[in-house]
Amino acid sequence: MAVTMKSTSALDRINAGMQASVDARKAAEDRKKAGSNGLVSVASSLVLLKSGKQKDGREIIQRAYIRPIYNIDVATVVSMHDKFQNYDASGNRAPIANLCAEAYGHACKYCVDAKKNKLQAREECFIAVYLRGIEEQEVGQTDWSKVQYTFKNPEGQEEKKTVQGFKLLRLKMNSPILSGLMNIFKYSGDITSCTYIIQRQGEELGTTYTLEAQPPTPMNPNLKAAIAQKKPSQVLELIEQLYPYQIVPQSRPNNGPLEDEIIDVDADVLDALDETF
Ligand SMILES: [Zn+2]
Repeated sequence: MAVTMKSTSALDRINAGMQASVDARKAAEDRKKAGSNGLVSVASSLVLLKSGKQKDGREIIQRAYIRPIYNIDVATVVSMHDKFQNYDASGNRAPIANLCAEAYGHACKYCVDAKKNKLQAREECFIAVYLRGIEEQEVGQTDWSKVQYTFKNPEGQEEKKTVQGFKLLRLKMNSPILSGLMNIFKYSGDITSCTYIIQRQGEELGTTYTLEAQPPTPMNPNLKAAIAQKKPSQVLELIEQLYPYQIVPQSRPNNGPLEDEIIDVDADVLDALDETF
């Protein structure tokens, strides 16, 4: 009898222990998804606009109100490997967006056969901005509505929040937004003196972006104070976290696995990777 009881107890403990292990793993995965392990997410760090036909069937245009926080002569220009339409060996979407490791003095994984793989490193420009908000309009309508996102508060209730805050604009060298900002700089010497409206419309190859400068206004003192707490060098640090460079496996200093690394990306992040203006 005692033996049976002891044995049952052992099984209970094993079952409970196995369940606890499953729970702990799930909790760790949830934390990772929520980004609370300190990893920054591409989706929440960039100015992201959508347009064209959406999953719900609506066809929309979106526009963002942005105020650059630094002048364009201190914008961050980096060498990037970028291929949105990339698939892994199993046919799953696996977009590539990484800094070129050569700039850091390492043998770069994506520079190997770059031309053959259509992965040549190209210069991209990142501009730090304060995003005041995003508005959207249904094609054919005239009214604009504020874009909000739903999040869970600490009490577990869902709340709606306006999309705003410090973000990065990711700009390719042929971007109309970049040439627009360069023109403003040429004539006024300062891109931080006004708010801009960036509008996205159309879809896929028909996607267009426009930049419209609003009349210059003094910067809000609260925004000015918040910017004073930041340093332009933090922009590069953020980019390095968002798009980490990859070095060729044999030159990996700790000989850790590279090919087997699982990079967990959800659909929003995949979409965000394509968000270059
Ligand atoms: Zn490279």
